Amino acid sequence: THAGSEPEEHVLEAALRPRNLDDFVGQSRVRQQLSLVLEAAKIRERSADHVLLSGPPGLGKTTLSMIIAAEMNAPLRISSGPAIQHAGDLAAILSSLTEGEVLFLDEIHRMSRPAEEMLYMAMEDFRVDIVVGKGAGATAIPLDLPPFTLVGATTRAGLLPGPLRDRFGFTGHLEFYTVEELELVLRRSAMMLDLRVTSAAFSEIAGRSRGTPRIANRLLRRVRDWALVHKLEEIDAQSAAAALDMYEVDSKGLDRLDRSVLEALCLKFGGGPVGLSTLAIAVGEETETVETVAEPYLVREGLMGRTPRGRIAMPSAWKHLGIAMPKDAIF
Ligand code: ATP
Repeated sequence: THAGSEPEEHVLEAALRPRNLDDFVGQSRVRQQLSLVLEAAKIRERSADHVLLSGPPGLGKTTLSMIIAAEMNAPLRISSGPAIQHAGDLAAILSSLTEGEVLFLDEIHRMSRPAEEMLYMAMEDFRVDIVVGKGAGATAIPLDLPPFTLVGATTRAGLLPGPLRDRFGFTGHLEFYTVEELELVLRRSAMMLDLRVTSAAFSEIAGRSRGTPRIANRLLRRVRDWALVHKLEEIDAQSAAAALDMYEVDSKGLDRLDRSVLEALCLKFGGGPVGLSTLAIAVGEETETVETVAEPYLVREGLMGRTPRGRIAMPSAWKHLGIAMPKDAIF
């Protein structure tokens, strides 16, 4: 789910991360709720309740986990579901946590079953059973853990089994950002990168950022490259648009995946309804990727609809792709 591959991109992405809740743009509801959870924990002098963050990639889950650790003045450990394949992997992490530490588990829905079950007990009782030996001779050695705060991240809370979901004291759903919020993210980034950008250019970039701060920052860097090569002192809307057209980020911010899903829906399936897994096969992607990455944005933009019989193309999808809507389309 991650963008920039070059090291410079990572350095910049890290540099642009807000460090506290006040600098975190948008998501006002989650921010308020989270701030209350953290304040209360500080007053009680206890580690904060476990927090589950859900939402499409790039909306700030990792950033929020860093902020939680910083606000609690606690160290942060980062790992992810796919990295924890055996219960032993999780046991190793849990048994080395220090008191109050924040453990961030990205893509927590991808953990293996045995690890998941170990996590239940760790979250609830701050205890794990370390199994030693095999078969009939296996014994479980209980191990007490220091209190810690788990911050789990998932692209969709619905992907988590109920028992795991229930063990989080607080669930925050991150929403796509508005264009105005993305403009604020971009203003802050431009200042840090020492760039001169007009207001119109900010809104041009924000409008193409797919409601996602990570994408906004990435597009800003592409526009910055363009300005550098074209020796521009100031970035205006026209040069921002020209740069982004070159990178095939369209006016609604659809990227390659979004567009191929939409095109398949319209051209291969006549606008649907078509089942999500069939659609995913048609574009050569995993169902989960289409469901958690492309679909939420396409639905929000009013391009795709969900019906009990499958996904359908909305009238604006045909319009956006510049294709005439067939007469027998569901609309
Ligand atoms: P993933 O789940 O794919 O890891 P994520 O939701 O954890 O994605 P982050 O890595 O936290 O996303 O954020 C991506 C980038 O977007 C960060 O570099 C950060 O600078 C920027 N960003 C995210 N949220 C905000 C925000 N609310 N305000 C300003 N910048 C933000």
